[in-house]
Amino acid sequence: MSAEQQPGIGVSAGISIGRALVLETHEVSIYRLPILPRDVEPELERWRQALGEAKRQLQQLRHRIEDELGENYSAIFDAHLLLVEDHGMIDSVSKAIREQRVNAEWALKENVDAHLRVFQQINDRYIQERGGDLEDVHRRLQRILAGSLIHHDLSELTEDVIVVAEGLSPSDTALLNKEHVIGMAVDEGSRTSHTAIIARALEIPAVLGLGTISQKVRTGDLIVVDGDRGHVLVNPDPSQIEEYERRQREWEAREKELQKLRDLPAVTEDKVEVKLLANIELPDEIEPAVKRGASGIGLYRSEFLYLQRSPTLPSEQEHYLAYRDLAEKVQPHFAVIRTLDLGGEKYFHSVLDREEINPVMGMRAIRLCFRRPDIFRSQLRGILRASAHGTIRMMFPMVTGIGEVRQARSLFEEAREELRKEGQPFDENMKIGIMIEVPAAAAVADLLAAEVDFFSIGTNDLIQYTLAIDRGNQSVSYLYQPLHPAILRQIKFVVDAARRHGIPVSVCGEMASDPLGVMVLIGLGLTELSMNALSIPSVKNIIRSLNAADLRKIAAKVLNMGTPTEIEEHLMRELQSRLPGGFSCPVH
Ligand code: PEP
Ligand code: MG
Repeated sequence: MSAEQQPGIGVSAGISIGRALVLETHEVSIYRLPILPRDVEPELERWRQALGEAKRQLQQLRHRIEDELGENYSAIFDAHLLLVEDHGMIDSVSKAIREQRVNAEWALKENVDAHLRVFQQINDRYIQERGGDLEDVHRRLQRILAGSLIHHDLSELTEDVIVVAEGLSPSDTALLNKEHVIGMAVDEGSRTSHTAIIARALEIPAVLGLGTISQKVRTGDLIVVDGDRGHVLVNPDPSQIEEYERRQREWEAREKELQKLRDLPAVTEDKVEVKLLANIELPDEIEPAVKRGASGIGLYRSEFLYLQRSPTLPSEQEHYLAYRDLAEKVQPHFAVIRTLDLGGEKYFHSVLDREEINPVMGMRAIRLCFRRPDIFRSQLRGILRASAHGTIRMMFPMVTGIGEVRQARSLFEEAREELRKEGQPFDENMKIGIMIEVPAAAAVADLLAAEVDFFSIGTNDLIQYTLAIDRGNQSVSYLYQPLHPAILRQIKFVVDAARRHGIPVSVCGEMASDPLGVMVLIGLGLTELSMNALSIPSVKNIIRSLNAADLRKIAAKVLNMGTPTEIEEHLMRELQSRLPGGFSCPVH
């Protein structure tokens, strides 16, 4: 019987077929044990020693990961270190041991459970991810108290495995042995979780959010992880294995083939050059992106820096160091840093409004920066100082009109003035742009073009806000239509406005990596596309087989069509007639 597809979220592309290694959660049983008054002091000492040991382990892990993967990954452990050094938690556990005369394990468990209960009431992914950190630290402390100092160590694997787990903590993920972990299938997790980000950086095919996969699989089972399509097969039959092996070979052959394109220009047959840039979250992603042919970073999502630094905010110096790293690594190209875009479905910080019924339309991105100019100021100063080390551009997200651009610019001007007075070097000519991702901004693009140096069209949000569909809501995902005439018309208006004002315009939403999206975008006059790095080779391949003059005619034609389906079918026919051997693009 053929194995059923277990659906999840494909967070890191590629297919792997191999034997499962199911990570047991090894929950330690925790009992409430009353203790005698004379045992209180020794119990407190045991608690202090466990904290010391946890701190030692975490520092060791931090150093090891810093050597192997760089500082951006090791910083994950800072959040854990902060938790084991948190006096509020340390003191209240000590108090419970002393006053309730209970064992350290129980006192700790009660304290952590109380925090997790509060976190659970807050419907916010960011807070829930912080809950994950707390659980991770809790497990470590309980294991130490139970005397089992050795944690399963994924860095010591000697055979190829697909790691299957209920949840992979950041420490587990960062320790994955790149040589032997060939895939990941995990019950929990989302596209923005640490696990997903690290899996992508390590280029390990991964499917998260699988629900109960860790209960359905046993160590040694044969499984298939399809990171492209976002599903897993458990004990596939021979014909399924054959099919996935074929797809895997095709994927690898295509990757190899596409790699050959790396040094070829992304030009259409009629010599229109298209700049292909990468969207990244960490400076360490620059090198793999350039390897795939990116000629710069079109979108650096600075949110990850905030996530790493939680529960505190990144300091100006931390901003500066991260962006300086980016500026140095991206040379001789440029990088566009997008300022804070927290809120909505993004990592939401505990210092910000949390009582919003509809946070996607709430206090997020640039609005939040105006509400908390102190947060904005340290980021602006960090970006400016980093601009002395390479070509940095900056852009503001979620802009809705000219007033916001002026307000942001005036805060930016204040930061520049301060730095000048302090004698700190920065690029006086740094270019300032905005995301066009709210329909209001698209509608006044002609006015906005006079105020900024460049536009970057964020189709992910532009589609969400134009079509009134929550981009994270599965039940309306069928309405998420990049080729809707309302979207294409707005893009045309924005591109034309930018052209009239002589400012560059690019697209940095997912549409820029979709073959039909690429056709229509070039047809509308775009020559700069920014996307996830994995898609760059296949997009380049498509561009090289197209003709820009033809695409302009095709775009003009589809702009007069009434439905996304008509448009899609027309583009598909045109694409197939131009790529007779067929085309395939990995879904990321
Ligand atoms: C967008 O909205 O298209 C975009 C690129 O930004 P994000 O996906 O980070 O919201
Ligand atoms: Mg956006």
